[in-house]
Amino acid sequence: KKRLLQALKGKENVTLDGTRINIFANIGNLSDVDAVLKNDAGGIGLFRSEFLYLERDTYPTEEEQFQVYKQVAEAMEGKKVIIRTLDIGADKQASYFNIDKEENPAMGYRAIRICLDRPELFKTQLTALFRASAFGNIAVMYPMIISVEEIEKIMKIVDEVKAELIERNIKIGNVEQGIMIETPAAVMISDLLAKKVDFLSIGTNDLTQYTLAIDRQNQKLENYYNPHHEAILRMIKQVVDNGHKAGKWVGICGELGADLVLTEEFIRMGLDEISVAPPYVLTIRDKVRKMDLTK
Ligand code: PEP
Ligand code: MG
Repeated sequence: KKRLLQALKGKENVTLDGTRINIFANIGNLSDVDAVLKNDAGGIGLFRSEFLYLERDTYPTEEEQFQVYKQVAEAMEGKKVIIRTLDIGADKQASYFNIDKEENPAMGYRAIRICLDRPELFKTQLTALFRASAFGNIAVMYPMIISVEEIEKIMKIVDEVKAELIERNIKIGNVEQGIMIETPAAVMISDLLAKKVDFLSIGTNDLTQYTLAIDRQNQKLENYYNPHHEAILRMIKQVVDNGHKAGKWVGICGELGADLVLTEEFIRMGLDEISVAPPYVLTIRDKVRKMDLTK
């Protein structure tokens, strides 16, 4: 079985009737890039940048972050690398952030909310990321978005970062900017959000949590945490349609992307990209290549 999958390396993700889809990989560390290349993923659809901030005592510097992003971009040799900006808070905490204890951290001070509240921290990450864009095909995506205003604030900060880099005479590449759709609010206004960005990537892990009101960390509720819920599937379809209406591509980067039971449905919905843990890439390619959507 494993050998059969190995034979799929270098092959396209195309159905029997000619429908194509991108299959990318999710990573959480520089060392995961090896597995991405070994499994022949078309790109990195989600680079969880939190590891740079966790398990240390001080903020990572611009230079430290730049080196990591640059190495990933170079290793991927022109394939797309989508870096998600800091998604700390809730289940992921670093003590030097000095975040107050909260009653409901999953619905609390986290991710883009921290970045917009502490713009210097956000600018350091964006500066590193835009610098690295000269060395490969880097894209950026922002987590936990709930409003158009957030995107406008982000874009203002991005403009400042770019202007400062130009002033420093530092070359930057063309960086696609997207958002994660992981709140019901983002789904409901995905038509408005899509107009403001280059792509949408659906984070089904959090989207399931917030839609079903089921804490993704609470083992007692495991039986309720159902990403196959019709509400979630309808939301995914709605986001794909709204993204396409605005002429933007739409992907999925939550764990649900690796669910083979849904691969055909995802392709029929029109998803442009599925990003999964590296070991699933070739399994999904195999599934896609055996599919006939005319039947
Ligand atoms: C998600 O919420 O689906 C997602 C991909 O992000 P994370 O699992 O890192 O919260
Ligand atoms: Mg998430």
